[in-house]
Amino acid sequence: MSDGPKVDPLTEIAPGLMRCDTGYLRAGHTACYLLTHGGRAAIIDTGVGASVPGILDALSRQDIPRDAVDWVIPTHVHLDHAGGAGALMQALPSARLGIHPSGAEHMADPSRLEVGVRALYGDEFFDREYAPLTPVARERMVTLDDGETLFVGQRPLEILHTPGHAWHHLSVFDVESAVLIAGDAVGASYPGYIQQRSLFMVPVVPPPQFNPAAYRATLARIVALAPRAVAPAHFPIIDRVDAAASLLEAMLDAAIEWTWQAASAADLNQRLLDGWCRWLPSDATREQLERDFGLDIWLTSEGLWLWRSKEERKAAR
Ligand SMILES: [Zn+2]
Repeated sequence: MSDGPKVDPLTEIAPGLMRCDTGYLRAGHTACYLLTHGGRAAIIDTGVGASVPGILDALSRQDIPRDAVDWVIPTHVHLDHAGGAGALMQALPSARLGIHPSGAEHMADPSRLEVGVRALYGDEFFDREYAPLTPVARERMVTLDDGETLFVGQRPLEILHTPGHAWHHLSVFDVESAVLIAGDAVGASYPGYIQQRSLFMVPVVPPPQFNPAAYRATLARIVALAPRAVAPAHFPIIDRVDAAASLLEAMLDAAIEWTWQAASAADLNQRLLDGWCRWLPSDATREQLERDFGLDIWLTSEGLWLWRSKEERKAAR
């Protein structure tokens, strides 16, 4: 497989719904979404702190004044989705931060989040990719319940709580386009892996909150919602939602089996790289899987390993 098609930094997904490349790690890795209606706007996910100038530039290229943004909504508090929220909120005077009730505290005081992320990724990665984290003022936050509807202009956005990848994960259903903006609820993929004749993504289940039952229930709920397409944060748009959900379930089932067979998290990482190759498009190699999905698969091996140790502790009680 070649390096995949080049991705525009700003792409129209549907009328009034733009995908904006946050530039995190590499082009075509992490997106945020810009929704507009009647001169008002919402931004779903924020990328990292370094993504904020690019997002503000995208607004001005769309002729959206900064004070026309009513909502900033991270799908969850992982830093490739919410790391830019504090800095973005400072630049958008009218915006409220919409957040899952269990994520709000981390946005107001990111210090505990920082400790956890440093422990997982190491200080060097944190300082390079994520620092500094900017808190969001509590009075600008609105917690979003499952089933709630909010509006951008007259355009309704329905909030779905979509746990599994993280307990505090939510997705945003744009009723007008029937596109579900799903953060990390429907796996991760990259340019070139989802095309007419290929559908490949990996389930990403990082520490510390992976819950397989919740992950599967979320996939089932999204299939039942039957959106016209799913717009994930990583990265190509998914229009075969049923097939994507079946693929993720099959890959997760296999991964859980390997989790119980593995001798360590590092061993599990290798098993995932070897085993998930079976689902790769026929012209893609294990080297490409490791190059493009290596970080996701490493995170997943850590998340699954932690989940296994919790299960073992539960069983021993
Ligand atoms: Zn995440």
